[in-house]
Amino acid sequence: MMTHESAVSKAREIASRVLAPTAEQNDTLGQFSTEAVQSLGESGLLGLLLPEDFGGAGLGPRTFAVVTATLAEADASVAMVYLMHILGTATISAARPGANRALTPILQDIAAGRHLSTLAFSEAGSRSHFWAPISRAHRNGGDGVRISAKKSWVTSAGHAQSYVVSALAPEGAGPTDSTLYLLTAATPGLTVSGPWDGLGLRANASAPMVLDDCQVPADFQLTDDGAGFPVMLNVVLPLFNLGTAAVALGLCRAAVTATTSHLKNAKFEHLGQSLGESLPTLRAQLATMQIDTDGLSARIDDLIDHLETPRETTMLRVLEAKAAAGEVAISVTSAAMRVCGGAAFSKHLNIERLFRDAHAGAVMAPTGDVLREFIGKSLLGIPLF
Ligand SMILES: Cc1cc2nc3c(=O)[nH]c(=O)nc-3n(C[C@H](O)[C@H](O)[C@H](O)COP(=O)(O)OP(=O)(O)OC[C@H]3O[C@@H](n4cnc5c(N)ncnc54)[C@H](O)[C@@H]3O)c2cc1C
Repeated sequence: MMTHESAVSKAREIASRVLAPTAEQNDTLGQFSTEAVQSLGESGLLGLLLPEDFGGAGLGPRTFAVVTATLAEADASVAMVYLMHILGTATISAARPGANRALTPILQDIAAGRHLSTLAFSEAGSRSHFWAPISRAHRNGGDGVRISAKKSWVTSAGHAQSYVVSALAPEGAGPTDSTLYLLTAATPGLTVSGPWDGLGLRANASAPMVLDDCQVPADFQLTDDGAGFPVMLNVVLPLFNLGTAAVALGLCRAAVTATTSHLKNAKFEHLGQSLGESLPTLRAQLATMQIDTDGLSARIDDLIDHLETPRETTMLRVLEAKAAAGEVAISVTSAAMRVCGGAAFSKHLNIERLFRDAHAGAVMAPTGDVLREFIGKSLLGIPLF
């Protein structure tokens, strides 16, 4: 049986044995790590949150956050792949009762480490407003629907075994009347439609995908018609915001470690001192990085507490955590770039990768700006949508 401690120790082992040695090369080449996914599968970590009935570990957000941060410290691209898989899995396992029989083998495969999933929500037409898909499902005679859609970024595109897809419900009247469906990778008409060549998170294959008249059987409809939006809000959003905050924390910790090491090891030979011994300004900036990193860690603990014991302020904390984490990751990795000077700028250290990876959090939807809009509106009692 997997416990919190054994899950974290497996994540540490995979991070040091599989992720750390290949992170730099995969970043340079923009190469998805199938070895990492295989190791996560063999360790049982792909079924971390799945109920034990399906063979999963049945663990909760606390373990998910620590595992994700541990992976991110070594390779944020893999951590993001893991995070999107956990979200896909949570959505499949929360499916409406009618879909259970068809989905059980998929959930069992996930628990056995043989199946990677992900979310395909964002569309070219509605951009970061993932809650308002442009695509619409059309009824397919008696059995299921047909969907055509342009999904703008899908983490693990072409590598996942299944995709949780949003589309407007066939009879949906408003822009958020969506339904969620599960498409297996073998679905005819589902293709990766372009390359992924991002500034950061270069090794997570976040490529665009096209659905060209894809048939989805009724068994693979995950939510009731028009009930996709509440699932996005109540199942996906809390875990996504927690997970992206954990990725940010991993990046900050890696930046503090790399900066500390540089300040200890790089020397002013003419002064007979290391950079850290020589310059108080660098020590002060390192201290600020540490303070901000521990502040983010405390914020994540507070969010976990709110998720484990839900209360009136839980959704506010969910929104705040991702908004704050995005800024902290950019600020801490930017400080690392400055403190480590030309060595960081000319890519002699891993700090430049951390800096690029850190910029993804704020632009992934809900973006930092949108989260602030939501927080401001909710404080003022203005409807969010
Ligand atoms: C590495 C990576 C991986 C991703 N993986 C996935 C995935 O697996 N699945 C998926 O569905 N999507 C994924 N996405 C897509 C992501 O969630 C966003 O949808 C996408 O980054 C939005 O980019 P855009 O240019 O369309 O943003 P735009 O919507 O054009 O936003 C442009 C700017 O406007 C701001 N803005 C937009 N709306 C508002 C508002 N209402 N108020 C204030 N400011 C606003 C934004 O904050 C941003 O600064 C991924 C993106 C990245 C970068």
